[in-house]
Order: sequence, then structure tokens, then C-alpha cells
Amino acid sequence: MLDVAGLRKSFGDIEVLKGIDLAVQAQELVFVIGPSGSGKSTFLRCCNLLEQPSEGSIRVDGVELLDSKTDINKMRQRIGMVFQSFNLYPHMNAAGNIMLALRKVLGKSKAEAREIAEASLARVGLAEKADAYPNELSGGQQQRVAIARAMALEPKIMLFDEPTSALDPELVGSVLTVMRELREAGMTMVVVSHEMRFARDAADRVVFMDDGLIVEQGDPAHIFGAPRHERTRTFLANFQ
Ligand code: ADP
Ligand code: MG
Repeated sequence: MLDVAGLRKSFGDIEVLKGIDLAVQAQELVFVIGPSGSGKSTFLRCCNLLEQPSEGSIRVDGVELLDSKTDINKMRQRIGMVFQSFNLYPHMNAAGNIMLALRKVLGKSKAEAREIAEASLARVGLAEKADAYPNELSGGQQQRVAIARAMALEPKIMLFDEPTSALDPELVGSVLTVMRELREAGMTMVVVSHEMRFARDAADRVVFMDDGLIVEQGDPAHIFGAPRHERTRTFLANFQ
């Protein structure tokens, strides 16, 4: 579903991604961990062309994103992204936030967009909150609206960049539950997060990044139980 090869990204003289190769199968949940500044966000942002890679190849469902003939706007719809900061429009209610892209990007009618928005909110357990404004929702609920918004466009793959890092601890669980349900429904997901417990029991594969490179990857039991590399061990020691 996602096939990244030789991905490099520099900001000025500084190379932040130094040749990333990663293939994610359909319905796989790949968890990306690594120290702050190792390039995790830049990697996700490149996969959605929020950053223009310097070099390499990114194929989504067989389509090369870096091919000048590719319709990037169309591909972006197929790649859902959820950020640490939920990025909801404060002057629009939950349904309105979801309807916006459905109307603007997909050209849906108001009635149809509303119907999809309500169904999407129901999927994240917020059927009752369609008319609530972001400031009337908890952080966990706002993040679930952001997930519903991404899912409403029926993406092929969902990218999550530290989706629970801005949440109070007691609100993290509700967001992880929604992510677990997406995984069970067969969504392909790449998740950057420090929720190691979630990684242990929900991830198919854990990728450890450091300094712009994938140092090591494997199933959660291997990465958490018997990491091969010293850098992985040192990083994980902070979470014991
Ligand atoms: P992570 O998400 O793993 O913490 P990032 O991808 O955010 O890492 O950042 C990796 C490195 O790239 C950092 O050194 C950061 O300062 C640098 N960086 C990220 N975005 C930019 C940018 N737009 N301009 C310049 N440097 C950036
Ligand atoms: Mg980051």
C-alpha cells in the first residue's frame, strides 16, 4: 500500500532523512518510534507531500507521488493524516469540520456531506456530538473528530503523528480505542507515537528511527524484548 525507497530530505544544508526504505502492506499497522529530532514527522509529512522530498520514491497503492504526472491533490485524499494538534476549525461544529473537505474536495452536496459526517462521527463514538463546537469537546473528543474527518474521505492509508501526545493521560485511551477499531476494520496505518503499550499489543511491526535512518525494525516482541542495536536499547530504556 505504501512503498518508500531511498527517501531523502534536506532542509538547507542539513539532511534530515538519509535514505529511508519502508514498505507497508495493506491492512498493516506499522509503528514508528525514535528520539525527538530523528525525522519521524518529516518522514510522515513527505509521505503526504506536505514536505517535498529531495530524493527517492514514494508509491501509494502503486502510484508514484513524485512523478510530475501524478495528480497530487487526488492522491492526498487517499492519504489521511492526523496530527498532534487536532487542527479543527474553531468556528465550525464537528460535523461542519468534516463536511468542509467532503464539499470542497469531493464536491458532495450539503445533505450528502452531512450524512457522511454523521456516519463518520458514529464510527469514532461521537454520534451525539455532530453539532458541538471544538471548544465544547475534550481534547480526546477533538482528536476523534480529526480522525473522523480524515476517515470520511475514505483514505487508502492513515498516517498518525503523535496523535495522543497533546492529550491529558485520562483522554488517551479513547483515541487509542478508535485507532484499534480502525485497525480491526482493516485500515492501513503508520503511527508515530510513544505509546509503547499500544505498540506492543496493536502493531504488526515496530520501526526504530534515529538520525534520519531506520536503525532496526521487527515485530513488537522482538523490538521491545530483544532489540539488536545499542541505540534502540538506549532509547527504549527511557520507557521502562
Ligand atoms: P521528529 O518528528 O522525529 O521529532 P522532525 O521530523 O520533526 O523529527 O525533525 C527532524 C529534524 O528536521 C530536526 O532537526 C528538525 O529541527 C528539522 N526540521 C524539521 N522541519 C524543518 C523545517 N521545516 N525546516 C528546517 N528544519 C526542519
Ligand atoms: Mg515529530
